[in-house]
Amino acid sequence: MSSTFCPMPWITQSTRNNGDIRVCCQANVGYDQGLARKETTIPDTYYIVEWNRCYVPDPAKLISATLQENNRFLDDYYQGLDLAFDKIWPHFKGHSALLKSLSVNKTILMRVVYSDNNDVITSMLFKDIEDANQYIANSNLEQISNLLKEENFRSTIDTIKLSADDTNAWVNDKRHRQLNNLNIVKENKINLDYIDYWDIRNVGEVYNAKDANLDEARNCPMLKQVRLDMLDNKWPLACKRCEDEEAAGIRSRMQYERERWDKLFDVEQAHKNTKADGSINTDKLPVVFYDLRFGNLCNLKCRMCGPTDSSQWYDEQVKMFGNTYQDTQGIVELVQDEKGRYKPKIDLYNWYENSAFWEQLEANITDIRHLYLVGGEPLMIDQHYEFLQKCIDRNESHHITLEYNTNITNIPERAWNIWKYFEKIEIGASVDGVGKIVEYIRHPAKWRILERNMRRLDDAEGNFKMWLAPTIGILNSRHLPDMIIWVLEQNFKLINAQSWKPPITPHPLHHPKWLNIKILPPEAKKEITEYYEICKPRIRELIFSQTDKGPEKKEELYSKTIALLDNYAIFMNNDDWSELLPKFWELNTKLDNIRGESLENAVPELYNLIKYSKPEK
Ligand code: SF4
Repeated sequence: MSSTFCPMPWITQSTRNNGDIRVCCQANVGYDQGLARKETTIPDTYYIVEWNRCYVPDPAKLISATLQENNRFLDDYYQGLDLAFDKIWPHFKGHSALLKSLSVNKTILMRVVYSDNNDVITSMLFKDIEDANQYIANSNLEQISNLLKEENFRSTIDTIKLSADDTNAWVNDKRHRQLNNLNIVKENKINLDYIDYWDIRNVGEVYNAKDANLDEARNCPMLKQVRLDMLDNKWPLACKRCEDEEAAGIRSRMQYERERWDKLFDVEQAHKNTKADGSINTDKLPVVFYDLRFGNLCNLKCRMCGPTDSSQWYDEQVKMFGNTYQDTQGIVELVQDEKGRYKPKIDLYNWYENSAFWEQLEANITDIRHLYLVGGEPLMIDQHYEFLQKCIDRNESHHITLEYNTNITNIPERAWNIWKYFEKIEIGASVDGVGKIVEYIRHPAKWRILERNMRRLDDAEGNFKMWLAPTIGILNSRHLPDMIIWVLEQNFKLINAQSWKPPITPHPLHHPKWLNIKILPPEAKKEITEYYEICKPRIRELIFSQTDKGPEKKEELYSKTIALLDNYAIFMNNDDWSELLPKFWELNTKLDNIRGESLENAVPELYNLIKYSKPEK
């Protein structure tokens, strides 16, 4: 079997929570990765706006400040230089937001910061000269350049016209630099997205499930190329996350999807059903698996979320960061409604309210085998119940598995009544800890309700499968083994009950970075790693006291559970991001003050470990 074959591009359709159609939910890494864009004509020419600057007294100083791995804030790029940054800063304000907005809208195709000889160069690629000129005007680039010239800089701005071939060569050069870490800024998200996923043909408008012809989207240029690459045993650019996970020895989604669909669709069928240009006959090969993210409607406002994930976050977003934020479709502005509550000026997240989408799903009802339903909070979405009822009414529910990613704070009776008609119900429950820690992380969740719902699910009759899927960040980093112990003590019948599965199924928190476990100070990491060791004997004792497994199964379960803990310790200890601790204290304390909560009360063990790192007021 081809090692890069995955059935998803042939039999699945997937949306982001704003309705944009993508290759699958693994395609989360960059703004642009794996999005289904419409076919578009390739321009003959492109334009690069090139801004060269050199710090004349000491060119190497600017280069080394700029090329540091972890530059996150604008002044990091000028760190240590003798210049009146305060005078220049106001002209930069809004610059990052402008860049993101232009890149999301595909006005700017790529931005790269690198060095050549004594210069630092920022290059921005456009497909229209008007866009390039507009960018120069809106970005204050000329004012900034003139101010830098007053501060011992040499600075020039040029617009260069390139053919399509020369543009490809330019991109390939930057990709080579990025892969080999050659004089290029690597931390910049825009750089990484565009260098990794650049495809000159793929610059059209994104198909959105709210109004797209879903079949047409299945033959977009990106998906055709993904299929051809897979069948040619090459990793598609869109599948970078699976490629990276495989390279790191982690079982990627590609592997388990291949196993899950093996009987229905394998690589031989993929070869048979794929035309020379990578397209498929969508009538002959219908979608059997929909992976749907229903906007951001949610009843919780978890600390690691934001307004793109939860509608409960709007007011706090304004209090914490101001009334705009970045989504993959551009900058979102929050405005007050008649009751004074904030909401987006244009709602990006209500795409699933459009009946055209559900009608297309309904037309395909006989072929659906699996629905993966995520929010926001999917159990709050009325339209999905209406669709499930249609599956029942048409006697098609018995061949459909429903898989949910839910916070299980509220499981309506409507769900229980509907679920019993489906082939299987699989529930990944986002529960990040036991007791007040989960109430703190997932405000305003109540532990007694979560516990009650877990027990009700554990007692459910029918074909249920359930697992606890905590997101592990700094706040529950020390708590991880406590949660494992608690689950083992409950002797659940159903929850994480497959004998090969550890008691919980955690995922590391990647964003926001200031809540990542890598930011913990080295001393705290040491204590936490030691605490994991202290907990192992209790975990062993609990696993070996289980009566429903033989010694071999117990040994296997124990070693998998210990490996899980060890892997988190490795993940935490591999990088030192403790320079983000001040950001953690600033933002977490701000949120505490807004919510009337306190880290010290909610997570005292962690607080005591890190309190010394809290900056003085
Ligand atoms: S290989 Fe990975 S990223 Fe690509 S479609 Fe399959 S699961 Fe998604």
